[in-house]
Amino acid sequence: MITVQHLSKSFGTHEVLKDINFSVKKGEVVSIIGSSGSGKSTLLRCINLLEKPTGGEIIYKGENILDDKHNVNQYRTKLGMVFQQFNLFNNHDVLNNCMVGQVKVLKRSKEEAQKLAMKYLKVVGMDQYIHAKPKHLSGGQKQRVAIARALCMEPDVMLFDEPTSALDPEMVGEVLKVMKELAESGLTMLVVTHEMEFAREVSDRVVFMDKGVIAEEGIPEQIFNHPTQERTREFLKRTL
Ligand code: ATP
Ligand code: MG
Repeated sequence: MITVQHLSKSFGTHEVLKDINFSVKKGEVVSIIGSSGSGKSTLLRCINLLEKPTGGEIIYKGENILDDKHNVNQYRTKLGMVFQQFNLFNNHDVLNNCMVGQVKVLKRSKEEAQKLAMKYLKVVGMDQYIHAKPKHLSGGQKQRVAIARALCMEPDVMLFDEPTSALDPEMVGEVLKVMKELAESGLTMLVVTHEMEFAREVSDRVVFMDKGVIAEEGIPEQIFNHPTQERTREFLKRTL
């Protein structure tokens, strides 16, 4: 689905990503774990082109999307993004939050957009709240709406950047449950997370980042039970 090759990113002289190589295949769930500042968010932001990589390639459907000739806007609509801080439109109700992008970006009719919005709000269990404004929702509810909004664009891949880190502890479970259901439904997902249980149970593969490099990568069983790298062991000792 997406292959990253020799990706690098610097901010001034600070090299934040160094020679990153990995891929996400169709239907796969890949978790990215690692300490604060290791470059996880920057990697996601490079993949969806919120940041311009300094070097390397991002291959999507056989083409390097960093080539000047590539249609970046089309690529972007194929990626769904869910952030730590929901980023809902506060002046729109739940239903509208899920319709705006469909109508404006994908040029869907209002009827079609509403149908899909209802479908995906149901998936995340928020179809009873279509007329609520975000300020009247809990953090967990807001994040589920943000997930529905991204799903409405019917992306090829969903990118999540610590979707539960800003939530009160009692709301983390409801969001992880939705993400787990999406994973089981076959959605392709790339998830930056501090939720080690989720990474262990739900992902097909885990990527451990340390100081801008992929220090280790493997199936959850390997990363969590038989890590080969000292840095992975150190990190897990601190977090588990
Ligand atoms: P966390 O777990 O805290 O979210 P992270 O792994 O997502 O951390 P990044 O946010 O990718 O880490 O940051 C990696 C490094 O890049 C950090 O040293 C950060 O200060 C630096 N960095 C990130 N964005 C910028 C920017 N826009 N300008 C300058 N430096 C940046
Ligand atoms: Mg981050």
